[in-house]
Amino acid sequence: MKETKVLLDLDEMPKKWYNILADLPEPLPPPLDPKTREPVKPEMLEVIFPKELIRQEVSQERYIRIPEEVREAYFQIGRPTPLYRARRLERYLNTPAKIYYKREDVSFAGSHKPNTAIAQAYYNVKEGVERLTTETGAGQWGTALSLAGALFGIDVTVFMVAISYHQKPYRRIIMELYGADVVPSPSDRTEYGRKVREENPDHPGSLGIAISEAIEMAVKDEKTKYSLGSVLNHVLLHQTVIGQEVLLQLEKIDVTPDVMIGCVGGGSNFAGFAYPMLGKKLRGELDEVRFLAVEPKSCPTLTEGKYEYDFGDTAGMTPLLKMYTLGHDFVPSPIHAGGLRYHGDAPSLCLLHHLGYIDAVAYDQLQTFEAGKIFTKAEGLVPAPETTHAIRAAIDIARECKRTGEEKVIVFNLSGHGLLDLQGYADYLAGKLKP
Ligand SMILES: *Cc1c(COP(=O)(O)O)cnc(C)c1O
Repeated sequence: MKETKVLLDLDEMPKKWYNILADLPEPLPPPLDPKTREPVKPEMLEVIFPKELIRQEVSQERYIRIPEEVREAYFQIGRPTPLYRARRLERYLNTPAKIYYKREDVSFAGSHKPNTAIAQAYYNVKEGVERLTTETGAGQWGTALSLAGALFGIDVTVFMVAISYHQKPYRRIIMELYGADVVPSPSDRTEYGRKVREENPDHPGSLGIAISEAIEMAVKDEKTKYSLGSVLNHVLLHQTVIGQEVLLQLEKIDVTPDVMIGCVGGGSNFAGFAYPMLGKKLRGELDEVRFLAVEPKSCPTLTEGKYEYDFGDTAGMTPLLKMYTLGHDFVPSPIHAGGLRYHGDAPSLCLLHHLGYIDAVAYDQLQTFEAGKIFTKAEGLVPAPETTHAIRAAIDIARECKRTGEEKVIVFNLSGHGLLDLQGYADYLAGKLKP
């Protein structure tokens, strides 16, 4: 029993975030100004981000204290989260491997995303900001930020990609219950949105356009700032509560992992889950653990992208980031794992992949939904389409163990549940899903 569901006490919830920048084997290439190709000065970001988040973005300190108010909100929404042993899945696969998963689906928003949304809302409120703007596709990030806005009393405007706004109403309804102002993008609220609508009044929208609208609104109002849900150093930093809890949980049951797996969109849940353990490896305190990032075949950033400077957004408004990229104008096919459709990845994750510390593998969505169905039936929990990428990799390694007889310990991050993403499963069950 103890090993099937590893729980933590409240006082075992991390008191600090772990910053991998302190332990990188070589310095992270800095963001560049696209015009001058000189490193961006942190002050330039103050129009859109609060000072403390910029400080965290460039900090080289190994640990950064988590404010008590943030820890209290983490507790409110479900932290510390349990670590489960997938005994039924192991039995189904008839594998000698041991499989564990970290339950980030238990948060009120159904994913890991509130770990940073809460921290971001807190620092903005503290610096007198009255409104946050952001973009959302299917709505996972918008939901997390709206939840954080409700908990800390800050207004939130979410530019939601128009086609999702109309076709996927459930997360929009949740955001509205949290009190957020949800706007289909392109909208009439911004100059950029109006321009796009003039050319095409029925434009379905895109994440790139929604980002541009959210940033424009933040730039134009002094009391409004912008919030991003992945990719940036401070976002990955906040997510390390996940991996620090995992370290403690594995210690409690005296287990050392052989492989740690997470899915990668922009890299925040993977980094949050894996970096505390990877940091030990970088500091020479541990060897043998393998880190595996899993991405969709239709958006194969780490496995097929180029390691070079590129824009973070489609419109080319952001600084240039050194990352594995498919090109900022790359349009991935509309797979159901919407959270994994990003042309680049977090710069630290890319550097660590480049240096050989993180492996990567890609699967198509027939492979991942099959894994999602196996997992749901075995364990009783419906994973998010994004999460099924990690599950597919775990299953493949467990099957390999069956062949070789190895008793590997596999730990993966269950980044979210799929209860609001059932269309993908419906198409899979009906045999209508394309790879
Ligand atoms: C957003 C999301 C992801 C992908 O984003 P990362 O920043 O790469 O973590 C993965 N899983 C779920 C459930 C998500 O909502």
